[in-house]
Amino acid sequence: MPALVEKIISYMEELAPSSIALPGDQVGLQLGNPGAEVKKILVALDPDQAAVEEAEAIGAEMILTHHPLFYNKLSAVNEKLPEGALVAAAIRNNLHIFSAHTNYDIAPQGISYQLAKTLGLPAEEAKVLEVTGSEKLLKLVVFIPAGYEDSVRNALAEAGAGQIGDYSHCTFQLSGTGTFMPGEGSSPFIGAQGQLEKVDEIRLETILPANRQRMVLKALMEAHPYEEVAYDLYSLAREGKSFGLGLSLSLERPISLDQLIQRCRSMLNPSSLRCWTPGNNVFSRVAVCGGSGGSLIEHALRQGAEVLISGDFGYHDLKYAQSRGLALVDAGHDATEWPGVVYLQQYISKRLQADSYKTEVFLQTSVSTGWRQ
Ligand SMILES: [Zn+2]
Repeated sequence: MPALVEKIISYMEELAPSSIALPGDQVGLQLGNPGAEVKKILVALDPDQAAVEEAEAIGAEMILTHHPLFYNKLSAVNEKLPEGALVAAAIRNNLHIFSAHTNYDIAPQGISYQLAKTLGLPAEEAKVLEVTGSEKLLKLVVFIPAGYEDSVRNALAEAGAGQIGDYSHCTFQLSGTGTFMPGEGSSPFIGAQGQLEKVDEIRLETILPANRQRMVLKALMEAHPYEEVAYDLYSLAREGKSFGLGLSLSLERPISLDQLIQRCRSMLNPSSLRCWTPGNNVFSRVAVCGGSGGSLIEHALRQGAEVLISGDFGYHDLKYAQSRGLALVDAGHDATEWPGVVYLQQYISKRLQADSYKTEVFLQTSVSTGWRQ
């Protein structure tokens, strides 16, 4: 069975929740119907004419992009203007267009993380350059008949609950007595209709990131033996991991400017590459930001970075970095974001396969960067 547009949206919400996008950014379903079926998806950097044409050529009903279709509010669909022609063509082709922009820039597995990984840098250990928010946490308390607590705990952990730093399966459990009386129409796992039952139960507590709520509750319902599961969810004032723009990475073995440039050329295949260095050409702290990283120069300096790899650096960015002794490598906006686009295609494919949907996911081939996997 093909997946619905809303299923793809739910996968994207788990990867890059729209709630973490920067204010005013137009993310989410740009065009289309959440209830429609999708047999083919095209993943692209930009929702442009080339992407619409390629989607049409391969018969894709949905385009998933990083950059949004509507940067600004659209007041008219005038086909004499490129924006209007694009929207009209997408509607005529029954295309659904979904974009994850700054929310995917900011997501822990997002654009900068994929860039760092592609460049062979230790992305797992990275620190965020500019913090824009932090993960909301929930506490889950569930009551489980004694003897079933381990299977429920494992299911919750696999769905993303109980993770504290490098520790998984973090829970607390207490024994007690649960009571219930099965009503008419019930088929109780323990006890009989109309009789008060007293059962040895475990109260199991754990925490989870709010964006894992749906998956964790689904896993709970599948693993718990009761027909009706008694559980509570609490919002926590305590916040989880910080997230934001760009990453700063500390290297065990310093890397030279030549090595960095070589990696950028071979892994990103940029259409152009510029760099500036203050003279120190060996770096042990590297900052990365896919897309436009000029606004992160100050943050990179504050975190002790010696070089910042990004795109779209302007003259004043260069002058500022020069004055502070920070090396800059500009591998281009699109080339530094492309690894994140490649990951989107892999991620959505994997999620669809795991849920047995008959929906294929294609990576755009008509890109101008020349970057290929
Ligand atoms: Zn961008």
